[in-house]
Amino acid sequence: MERKIRLVYFSQATRDMNLSDLKDILTAARENNREKDICGMLCYDNRYFVQALEGERGVVNDLFFHIADDPRHTDVVIASYEYIENTTFTNWNMGYASSTPVFVELLAKLKQTTFEPAKLTPKQTYALLRHLSAHQDDI
Ligand code: FAD
Repeated sequence: MERKIRLVYFSQATRDMNLSDLKDILTAARENNREKDICGMLCYDNRYFVQALEGERGVVNDLFFHIADDPRHTDVVIASYEYIENTTFTNWNMGYASSTPVFVELLAKLKQTTFEPAKLTPKQTYALLRHLSAHQDDI
């Protein structure tokens, strides 16, 4: 069995995403990721996506390139890529959070007023997703 990795990237939505758009993405993600034994967390705010993908290296790599090709987003940047012993987002094939009071509070702690993932360090980006995984939107 290949070693596990965590890949975190951010990207810019090519248009404003409404609830139905996000539901479409999450429905496909949850179905496919379950089959591939991938877990993770997706966050959308201020027209940016941030996503963590955890699973076997080759499977995550293939999925990442597939996702990066999706015309619903652009300017995809890998924030971090690392080997992991244990997955963090085990309970979610794909968890989800958007702007909530908790999100705003977390951003303020990172000295940010608006969500701009390029301004966060890789550590901060991962920490944000980890904290948000405990405060998810139910979609
Ligand atoms: P199809 O649904 O037939 O898609 C074919 C291609 O069309 C896809 O590659 C996609 O690029 C494009 N497409 C699909 N729906 C739309 C649409 N509504 N508007 C424009 N283009 C569209 N998939 C996962 O499996 N796991 C994930 O974790 C995951 N995370 C994602 C995160 C983001 C930010 C985005 C934008 C997409 C994500 N997706 C994820 C969706 C992924 O890009 C594919 O749409 C999905 O995997 C289905 O692809 P498919 O080739 O099987 O099928």
